[in-house]
Amino acid sequence: MITLKEALALPKEEIAALREDLKKRIEEKRDLNAYIAVDEAGDGVPLLIKDNIQVKGWNVTAASGILQGYVAPYDATVIAKIKEAGLAPFGRANMDEFAMGSSTETSFYGKTLNPHDPERVPGGSSGGSAAAVGAGVAIAALGSDTGGSIRQPAAFCGIVGMKPTYGRVSRWGLGAYSSSLDQIGPMTQNVEDAAILYDIISGHDTHDSTSADIDYKPVAPNLDPDRKLKIAVVDNYIEDASPEVRAAYEKAVKALEAEGHTILHKEMMGAKYDIAAYYIIATAEASANLSRYDGVRYGNRAENVKDLKEMYLKTRSEGFGEEVKRRILLGSFVLSSGYYDAYYLKAQKVRHLIKDEFEGVFRDADLILSPVAPTPAFRFGEMADPLQMYLSDAYTIGINLAGLPAISLPIEKTAEGLPVGLQLIGRHFDEQTLFDGAMSLERAVAYEK
Ligand code: GLN
Repeated sequence: MITLKEALALPKEEIAALREDLKKRIEEKRDLNAYIAVDEAGDGVPLLIKDNIQVKGWNVTAASGILQGYVAPYDATVIAKIKEAGLAPFGRANMDEFAMGSSTETSFYGKTLNPHDPERVPGGSSGGSAAAVGAGVAIAALGSDTGGSIRQPAAFCGIVGMKPTYGRVSRWGLGAYSSSLDQIGPMTQNVEDAAILYDIISGHDTHDSTSADIDYKPVAPNLDPDRKLKIAVVDNYIEDASPEVRAAYEKAVKALEAEGHTILHKEMMGAKYDIAAYYIIATAEASANLSRYDGVRYGNRAENVKDLKEMYLKTRSEGFGEEVKRRILLGSFVLSSGYYDAYYLKAQKVRHLIKDEFEGVFRDADLILSPVAPTPAFRFGEMADPLQMYLSDAYTIGINLAGLPAISLPIEKTAEGLPVGLQLIGRHFDEQTLFDGAMSLERAVAYEK
């Protein structure tokens, strides 16, 4: 598939042909179920959009039953920006319902298959975006990352996925899951394309009160893979990873050394605090954010009800899937009086500690190298226990809690042909260093698709 950089350089006449070719490819790989629909908005370079980002006039549902029939009344800021840059929304990408999940198994529209093995998940929640780019049925895509939902599916599908610093990309028009963690980001075939798309969607936006009003310098024109950096490896982090992930990790460390970077060895508290804090904060915010889906304002409304209360109850009971209900219940519980201090407040304190710990490492290091997931793509149904699924987010969620930027890129394939990705993590708003390091790592490992 043509890269985003190449597509953006095409003369206008050739873009129409590109779109037709893409439609044919999508049809050939329909079984993947990466696209919910092949909707089009405009005639620019086609870009696949996760189904939780508002595109004016489209059905946007966050892959939920409750939003069936909802039509987006406006463009998200990122959509306005991509249109200005000569791109056009093309297709709604499948995802976990309301971005809650790590496998795209909770979608109202059914599961998406991993392009490398149809018996395995593409990861989640941006599984449709990752599978489409990985299968060559999208040039690039937008995803959203609250706790790893861009980076983990990118790793499972052998593509590049990047989560910007919290506040760098406007969340206006993104269906809110956990507002203090959510970020939209690029999912692409290579690091340079990710930098290009990142530049297009970044910048201050008065519509989003958490958008950062700081100087923004484009990253892509200044990419420098020859910069020598200090890169921290967290030795105790990888102890719980599978042998395949550890092998990729060792390969990456050697590659970075060969590129002339300095490797620093660090220890960090790690996953058990991250998971506990994340699943309290994310569910608390989700329970508040999802209260707006009440049958009055958006999408589906239950019928044959005798009063308002029953309408709320029936709409929400019928409209939300099981995992979303679990999150709403968990979130309401941790916010309820008596438990607020014990759970929610404590989780906020732990969040601070996690942030401080990262800052400590970044006093010495420019970047941190980390696994993205403990294993390569797992099989459908393998994580039937929700807690087991939550534990698989161990490596990604701390980065969202700390608000840091990170990029996942493919390193090698297992003997079974499954991609293994790793991530680099950067300092707040230092995306330039993050992309420079990622360019260098990409060059050194020379991953073969
Ligand atoms: N798997 C995590 C969750 O279910 C992260 C999801 C995401 O980043 N949207 O909450």
